Amino acid sequence: MKITILGCYGPYPPAGGACSGYLVSEDGWNILLDCGNGILSRLQEYLAFQELNAIILSHLHADHVSDIMIMRYGLELAYNRALRNEPLPLYAPAEPAGEFERLSYKNAYKVSGVSEETELQIGPFTIKFRSGIHAVPALSMRIESPSGVMVYSGDTEFNSGLAEFSKRANLLLCEANYLEADIDAGLPNHLSAAQAAQVASEAGVNRLVLTHFYPERDPVLSLAEAVIYFPFTELAKERQEIII
Ligand SMILES: [Zn+2]
Repeated sequence: MKITILGCYGPYPPAGGACSGYLVSEDGWNILLDCGNGILSRLQEYLAFQELNAIILSHLHADHVSDIMIMRYGLELAYNRALRNEPLPLYAPAEPAGEFERLSYKNAYKVSGVSEETELQIGPFTIKFRSGIHAVPALSMRIESPSGVMVYSGDTEFNSGLAEFSKRANLLLCEANYLEADIDAGLPNHLSAAQAAQVASEAGVNRLVLTHFYPERDPVLSLAEAVIYFPFTELAKERQEIII
């Protein structure tokens, strides 16, 4: 399984950067996890977007979704020119309802709601979901294939179930939008780097990659507080390819 970091910032990117988007590939199958601003452009450095097999959105905040609204034009044109013969499967939480309805566009996507009860089989990938704690319904994803297991946190506050859900994964790709000082100040909706590392340690994962960085803070600060709790921590870098 290969995971390509297309974008790793939120809730907005720095100059030249992109918001959330991760390409997961194996055996010629390609799924895109989240599609924030900048991801459509970045994706095409690796793959024609018409060749995606599916997109899965962790939640419906714009920094995880916005390029869906642009890719639809390309997909619709590809469909009309018979470059694609079916809409692209797009999976996302069904709430907020208004945001979910906005995902549908002509023949671009086949939109399906997902929840903790959903299990998807897409090519070699088995995908399970777990609810996080966020301002809107948000899901973490566990992706299993013959080559290994990766867990992507999506956006979430600390929740005790995330470690269980991440148990013995080869890779935990975990948001760390905050530092501990932000948690101490009572900021909601996201994990600190230290909390992400505590989850990784409890779950016994092989490797923790921190992501969803606040664009005006040096991510080295996140790494410094994470390695105290989990030494096998790295910082996501855009265009990085991770093989598990
Ligand atoms: Zn969010």
